[in-house]
Amino acid sequence: MPESPAPVSSIAASSAKLIDGKIYAERLRAQVAAEVAMLKAEHGLQPGLAVVLVGEDPASEIYVRSKGEHSLAVGMHSITHRLPADTAQHALLRLVGELNEDPTIHGILVQLPLPKPLDEHAVLAAISPDKDVDGLHVVNAGRLASGMPALTPCTPLGCMILLRETLGDLTGLRAVVVGRSVLVGRPVAQLLLQADCTVTIAHSRTRDLPAICREADILVAAVGRPRMIKADWVKPGAAVIDVGINRVPFDDPVKAAAGRTKVVGDVDFKAVSQVAGWITPAPGGVGLMTVAVLLQNTVTAARRLAGIGAA
Ligand code: NDP
Repeated sequence: MPESPAPVSSIAASSAKLIDGKIYAERLRAQVAAEVAMLKAEHGLQPGLAVVLVGEDPASEIYVRSKGEHSLAVGMHSITHRLPADTAQHALLRLVGELNEDPTIHGILVQLPLPKPLDEHAVLAAISPDKDVDGLHVVNAGRLASGMPALTPCTPLGCMILLRETLGDLTGLRAVVVGRSVLVGRPVAQLLLQADCTVTIAHSRTRDLPAICREADILVAAVGRPRMIKADWVKPGAAVIDVGINRVPFDDPVKAAAGRTKVVGDVDFKAVSQVAGWITPAPGGVGLMTVAVLLQNTVTAARRLAGIGAA
């Protein structure tokens, strides 16, 4: 019989240790930069990322700029295509087709959400699975679900890096993922399963969500509801990963009256910190990992396309 892992509650702390996404994201970006330098020097290969932004959504514009800047900073080839909001479906599909054929591009990311009436499913399906660095093509989702090597969505992979760095071996731990989206909940659950956790996926129809959450050694919140996860939903000592990014008015009534907002997660951070063993801040946790993992996925795609094995 395999040895049982130590229960997480046996290492409970009265106040949670912070899982600082900045540290791990910086470390991952440094690793990617070293790998890009090696691929250039030894194989003449410069990984290339193409980001496509349709329309002028301000949040998407910030994400796209960050992706472009970080990919240049690690030495990659980086190109951003900005298209007007009224771009026709066939024109977007033609661009994706050209990028699929472009030998200098190894990763393609179409920033979501797309303006209406563009069909996101059709656009994602048009990206070559080999260049699908967002991991949202059904081929990659299917490969992940089958336990095969896949390009994996960036935020879920970022969650796993934080968990492994924090807890080490995850074998046998009880994991509860709140949220079942294709972007976050489902893939993070698949990755936890691959790491030999016992996984429960909860969602808006789950009965007695607090009781389900209290069973978790690892609790991942990917809901999109500000501060929904309360302290009495959390098992003492659990690792809590907060994926949520929610804009709420400031507590300060003057700032709130001026219409100013701030970002909070799906977890009631202050209260849960008193119960959990480890916790990611939001912002400052998972969100910082997402772009770093995108860079790593682009290197992975470049290696596979060039037939160069992992280092
Ligand atoms: P979705 O809206 O696609 O999915 C939300 C999920 O939460 C759904 O499965 C939904 O259930 C579930 N849910 C909603 N309300 C409840 C409830 N009251 N109780 C239990 N479950 C509930 O969101 P995403 O997965 O795309 O994103 C989740 C959060 O993560 C958002 O805040 C988003 O901004 C953030 N995010 C952060 C990223 C990062 O880089 N840090 C990247 C991507 C997302 P059902 O399926 O039944 O409707």
